[in-house]
Amino acid sequence: MAGLPQPDTIANEIFETASKRREEARGYLGMSSIGDPCERKLWYMFRGFTPVPPEGRALMIFELGKRIEDILIEYLRESGYRIEATQTAFDDFNRLFRGHCDGVIHGITQRPHILEIKSANRKKFDNFKSDGVQKTYPVYWAQVQCYMGYAGLERALVVVYCKDNSDIYSERIHFNRHEFEELRRKAYRIIIADDAPGKAFAQDSLECRYCDYRILCWNPTEHIQTVGQCKNCVWLKWDGLSPICSHRNHSFPVHHLDRKCDDWSLALFVKTPFIKEDGTLVMPFDSHPRYQWWNGGQSIADTLAELGADPGVIEDYVWRWEERAGIIEADDGLPRYEAERRALEITPVYPKAA
Ligand code: SF4
Ligand code: SF4
Repeated sequence: MAGLPQPDTIANEIFETASKRREEARGYLGMSSIGDPCERKLWYMFRGFTPVPPEGRALMIFELGKRIEDILIEYLRESGYRIEATQTAFDDFNRLFRGHCDGVIHGITQRPHILEIKSANRKKFDNFKSDGVQKTYPVYWAQVQCYMGYAGLERALVVVYCKDNSDIYSERIHFNRHEFEELRRKAYRIIIADDAPGKAFAQDSLECRYCDYRILCWNPTEHIQTVGQCKNCVWLKWDGLSPICSHRNHSFPVHHLDRKCDDWSLALFVKTPFIKEDGTLVMPFDSHPRYQWWNGGQSIADTLAELGADPGVIEDYVWRWEERAGIIEADDGLPRYEAERRALEITPVYPKAA
């Protein structure tokens, strides 16, 4: 007779099933996370980098939270409050910044309130009660500031449900236009950033230890990217809010950030070229491909200009390099690409395996 499944096996099977319900990466920057203090993390999210896979248990907690939302809305309605506009969507910056509120609730005061429902364990719940939403979970506070700003409302109601004992905490939050504009500016800054913003915390901080992007951020060579898209391609650049492909072979505006072509390469490069005191350009082999002129990247002159090189240095480099490439091309009958490569070998631009 086949053995009965063991309790641990059953739990593991459930967690495994839950882990498969992972949501696809969103194609936008979410208002529900814009209050996070690490802009680098928000940039990773926005650009569709693969996070550390969450455990099935964590996903189950998240799903439970969503169901609690529905249950509480039912209870609020039965208690006499009118709730409308559930899951109303807000967006900005060509729909690259988006959010959905839980609803708009009427009957709290004479003014309608944005409704946001959250759930928490006992410890966190007690913090909400003693310190309020802004101090306990500034990300929630920022989220409702965005919703109020985009909905044109001046009040929000946050209802927190305690998962341990069904206790309920509610707090009214006033709109703060200054904070709203700050959050908008932050969203814009992250959307148009060509490279990852700086790290906000130290590697051994609690924030980094629990961050879904800790491997990508601190050990990028161990990162596993499961989805390649224009938005996480190293050739993507922003012209204001317009994404463009900067690959020399096919520069064009990018209309679908979630697609990719054969030249896709993950935007993980962190090394930049630099100029030594004697004016020599040092080009790490694994520098960002946009500097790799031999790989479709920008010209040496553009790189030197970007690094703030003296105009004399730029002229000297370009003159020497281009002249040599032209001579080699003509004398040896080589294609331009090969002639440029040879010219580089004898012009003092030193690729370095950093
Ligand atoms: S690991 Fe730390 S610094 Fe890096 S993205 Fe996450 S929170 Fe920010
Ligand atoms: S190289 Fe291809 S994948 Fe990368 S941004 Fe350009 S079109 Fe998109």
